[in-house]
Amino acid sequence: MQNSEGMLVLFSGPSGVGKDTVLDIILSKDEKLQRSVSLTTREKRSGETDGEDYYFITKEEFSQMIKDGQVLEYAQYGENIYGTPKAPVDRWLKEGKTVILKIEVKGAQKIRELYPDALSIFLLPPSMQVLEDRIRRRATESEDDINRRLEIAKNEILRSADYDFVVVNDDLDKASNNVLSIIKALNFTYKRMKSKISEVIKNV
Ligand code: 5GP
Repeated sequence: MQNSEGMLVLFSGPSGVGKDTVLDIILSKDEKLQRSVSLTTREKRSGETDGEDYYFITKEEFSQMIKDGQVLEYAQYGENIYGTPKAPVDRWLKEGKTVILKIEVKGAQKIRELYPDALSIFLLPPSMQVLEDRIRRRATESEDDINRRLEIAKNEILRSADYDFVVVNDDLDKASNNVLSIIKALNFTYKRMKSKISEVIKNV
């Protein structure tokens, strides 16, 4: 990051690809990772908890937060708006944490403009058929919503070219390990090792 010691990781992929499950696994393996909880105007799915999975708010509340400068980025997805609350992300970055944003492709682009050093990872389904099966198995969306999500998915996959890394989620453990390895490797970039290098050659 250019403005702090923390790091920002953008984690995208089509609806149903398994972003949440991969995130749960990597967060349980590395306590330095911090997941940002997004704002959304969509309905809560069964099994979701307000404040943990999302902050479920109304369109009016969302508009007010945008006006008040409390939203880092936001994007429309289907009928709903999703966004990242600004204050916690700023705080975590100052504390040196690695902050993971689960975000769709338009929001990710906005964050890249704000934080050019952000790492971005795209989670790809092994095939469109597997993706459709997973969305249907979840059985939380209407037929219209499922079709809309599949259409958005195709466009999102085309935007994977904007990402630093692409990981296929064909096997959950393998995909999670790959995502975690990529994030860990970030600690060893020249930029982050610069002060250590200076220290090593200080008295030479
Ligand atoms: P879902 O309704 O399946 O939970 O999420 C729909 C899409 O919204 C997913 O692609 C997800 O990554 C994206 N999303 C979740 N939180 C945010 C956010 O804070 N900002 C943006 N731009 N997209 C988000």
